[in-house]
Amino acid sequence: MDKIDVIIIGAGIAGIQSAYYIQKNCPHLSYKILESRSDLGGTWDLMKYPGVRSDSDMYTYGYSFNPWHGTSIASGEEIKDYIDQTAERFDIKQHIKFNQSVKTLDWIKNSWVVNNQIQAKYVICCTGYYDYDNVNLPSIDKQELYQGTIVHPQHWNNTDFKHKDVAIVGSGCTAITMLPKIAEQAKSVTLIQRSPGWITSIDSKERSTRLKKTLQSLKNYFYCRLFKNKIKEKFKANHYYTPDRIPSYDVWDQRVCCTTDWQYFTAMNKLNVRTETSEIYQWKPQGLMLTNNKIIKSDITIMATGFNIKLLGDIEITVNGKPININESSWYKGMMYSGVPNLFSMFGYVNFSWTARCELISKRISKIINYMTKKKLQTCTPKYLGKTTPPPLQSNYILRAMNKFPRKTYKFSQNYFKEWITFKWSKINDGAVEFK
Ligand SMILES: Cc1cc2nc3c(=O)[nH]c(=O)nc-3n(C[C@H](O)[C@H](O)[C@H](O)COP(=O)(O)OP(=O)(O)OC[C@H]3O[C@@H](n4cnc5c(N)ncnc54)[C@H](O)[C@@H]3O)c2cc1C
Repeated sequence: MDKIDVIIIGAGIAGIQSAYYIQKNCPHLSYKILESRSDLGGTWDLMKYPGVRSDSDMYTYGYSFNPWHGTSIASGEEIKDYIDQTAERFDIKQHIKFNQSVKTLDWIKNSWVVNNQIQAKYVICCTGYYDYDNVNLPSIDKQELYQGTIVHPQHWNNTDFKHKDVAIVGSGCTAITMLPKIAEQAKSVTLIQRSPGWITSIDSKERSTRLKKTLQSLKNYFYCRLFKNKIKEKFKANHYYTPDRIPSYDVWDQRVCCTTDWQYFTAMNKLNVRTETSEIYQWKPQGLMLTNNKIIKSDITIMATGFNIKLLGDIEITVNGKPININESSWYKGMMYSGVPNLFSMFGYVNFSWTARCELISKRISKIINYMTKKKLQTCTPKYLGKTTPPPLQSNYILRAMNKFPRKTYKFSQNYFKEWITFKWSKINDGAVEFK
């Protein structure tokens, strides 16, 4: 059996970040990244739908050790290239084993056995948060009747929408991002949504710095949470928000979507674009029938209906022969699970750049490992403790998945300022983790 100090699972933006910090802060350790796909990039290798791009700024989403120098908002292709170049520049690529899907992790005799093949002291799961294979498709009656094509943005497969009647179901970031691109070539586009979303516009040529963007994004977020009515009035100054088109929730109850250069709002003024705010009743041969009895005729229906949350890459985990159900564990700092030794995982911000939190976790992991090396310790295992805390966002994909997250969480605030301080300055042996 191969022996290695650290196994990182997943070569997405977080996996490469994690490898950088292991390499830099724990140079005495050997590591490998196991990636189930044939290329790196994760989300940015998978998503190919028209217009795919970042929806938070790249200065905070990019790596602090390899600062982003382009525009604030970047295309999916640019982000994939950036991850690729980073892995190349810091000699991380040679550590990746592609086409290696991790199915099992077994903790036996104080080390991890990965897929019955590799023995490792530590495992870091950078497996993202959603299922790459099974998309979230709402169940709508009589689908067998529909004569058009149903597509999910996650499995785009070069769908040809030129001169076609297209319906897009959804109101999240994906729908808002793709609509202007689809409207450029389709015969017609109808956006079907239960509730419109809060959308803001960003200058596509904007340039900034990491510090400026960090302060600006967090100030905006907390302002929105504190002055809910004031911020709604500000959004409503945009003529798009007519009285019959006001979102049913407060700003930042769900992630605020962005469009670049007002493209989404400009597209809405086109003759071939319209929105329908209604529940869906059932499929008809021509398209979707809504509960208001309208039938939306379409050749293609794009289900921009979000993800199926999947934590820890669906890996079967056992500890000393006992299967682990992480839903019944406590989530220590959103990075470790009670009763599961020497296993770390990434979960980023949903109200700020995902990677900003993954960076805090990566640095903390190397501190924990170095502490253990210095004290000649073998295991670190969070204790079962904590209270149930409410979900960080009311987004449907999070609410749908509450039975997949650890039920009990140690306070996990989704507040970058607070966590920057606590991850950096709190004691490694803080009483919540048992070191042996
Ligand atoms: C279109 C889109 C735009 C987004 N834009 C932003 C944004 O602007 N800002 C932001 O903060 N967030 C954004 N997000 C959220 C985004 O998913 C994360 O920011 C980020 O890409 C997640 O990175 P990750 O490396 O944690 O996971 P992923 O990118 O999902 O990568 C996980 C990797 O792990 C691999 N893997 C999974 N399971 C296994 C296994 N069992 N064995 C081996 N390998 C495995 C996968 O193949 C994949 O390569 C966006 C998401 C989408 C879909």
